[in-house]
Amino acid sequence: MNAEAPPFAPIETDCVIIGAGPIGLFQVFELGLLEIRAHVVDSLTRLGGQCIELYPEKPIYDIPSVPVCTGREFTENLLRQIERFRPTFHLGQEVTVVRQRDDGRFHVETSNHTTFITRTISIAAGVGAFQPRKLKVEGIDAFEDKQLFYRVKDPRMFDGRQVVVCGGGDSALDCALDFVGKAESVVLVHRRDAFRAAPASVARMRELCARYEMQYEIGQVTGFDARDDRLTALKIASGDGVTRRLELDCLLVFYGLSPKLGPIADWGLEIDRKQIVVDTARFETSTPGIFAVGDINSYPGKRKLIVSGFHEATLAAFAAAAYVYPGKTIHTQYSTTSPTLHKVLGVESTLAV
Ligand code: FAD
Repeated sequence: MNAEAPPFAPIETDCVIIGAGPIGLFQVFELGLLEIRAHVVDSLTRLGGQCIELYPEKPIYDIPSVPVCTGREFTENLLRQIERFRPTFHLGQEVTVVRQRDDGRFHVETSNHTTFITRTISIAAGVGAFQPRKLKVEGIDAFEDKQLFYRVKDPRMFDGRQVVVCGGGDSALDCALDFVGKAESVVLVHRRDAFRAAPASVARMRELCARYEMQYEIGQVTGFDARDDRLTALKIASGDGVTRRLELDCLLVFYGLSPKLGPIADWGLEIDRKQIVVDTARFETSTPGIFAVGDINSYPGKRKLIVSGFHEATLAAFAAAAYVYPGKTIHTQYSTTSPTLHKVLGVESTLAV
C-alpha cells in the first residue's frame, strides 16, 4: 500500500472513501475492478472498522464461502484482496468538510488538513466515528487503558487477573464467558436481572455462576478504591440498598456504542434517524456523485450486515464509474473469464484473447 502523501497540495483523485471498515475496504476492490483509484480516510488509526475495534477475535460465520473467520482474519483477507489496487490510506483523521466545487467535483477536508479534489465520494462511515459509552464515575477515567478498558485489544493481558466486566449485552456476556478459566476470577456486573444478550450466552453465564466458575452481581458502579495510583476495588450499589466492594485488577465496560454522526450531518445530505438516505439502484445520496454504503445508509428493508454492504459497494462502484468515465458504457464482466479484469487484477489470463 502507498505511504501517505504529505497534506500540502490538494490530492486530486476519482474517489474518496470515507471509512476503512469492511465495506470501505471492499469499495476499494469494486472501484479497482473498474479502474477507479481511491483514497481512503478513517478517523481510527487501524483498518477494519467494527471488525477490528469491536470483535477482532470473534468468529464470523456469515461471509459467503468463508465458513468461519475472526474479525481480524476477515480484515486481513480484505486487505490482501485490495493490495493490487494500491489505495492510499489516510488514518487517524476524520473527514470534516465535504462541499461541491463550481466544476462539479468535491472538496474534501480532514481534521489533519489533508484536502482532496475528487469526482466522487463513497461514504462507508458505519455508525459514524463511534465512541464507547463511558462509565460515569468521577475520577475513574484516570485508569483508562491501564486498568479500565472499553474494548479487548489483547485478551491475553487478562490471563490470571481478577476481572470485572460491566454490561448486559452480547459484548459484555461474550467477554465475561471468554475469560472464564483464563482469568483468576470473573465477575459480571449488570444493573438488572435481564439481559440484551443472546439467550444461550445468558444461560451459559448462569450455569457457570451456579458452578462457582464466575460470579454475577446485580447493581450499579458508584465508586472505587485506589492505592498507589492503582484501581483496587469497585463499589457496587445493589437494589437491596447495600454497597458491596469488589476487588479487581482490570475493569471492562461494555455499555454500548454511541453513534456520533459528527460532521457528516453538516454535508447537506438527506438524513433519516442518523442514517444517510440512498436509493437502492445506485446507493447514491441526495447529492449526485456522493454514495453511501454499509451501516451508514438507510433504505427500505436495510439490514446492517456485511453481505448487504458488499452488494451496495458493488452497485455504487458501477454508478461512480458513470461520473469518472462519462458517456462510457460499463459492462458487467466476470472475474473468472474476463481478460480485461485479469489485466486489472494482474493475474494471468488462461483464455485466448
Ligand atoms: P464500520 O465497520 O463501522 O466502519 C466505519 C469506519 O468509518 C470506522 O472505522 C470509522 O472510524 C470510520 N468513520 C466514521 N466517520 C468518519 C469520518 N467522518 N471520517 C473518517 N472516518 C470515519 N455483521 C455480519 O454481517 N456478520 C456478523 O457476524 C457480525 N457480527 C458482529 C458482531 C459485533 C459485536 C458487532 C458490533 C457487529 C457485527 N456485525 C456483523 C456488523 C458488522 O460489523 C457491520 O455491519 C460492519 O462492520 C459495517 O461495516 P462498515 O464498513 O459499514 O462500517
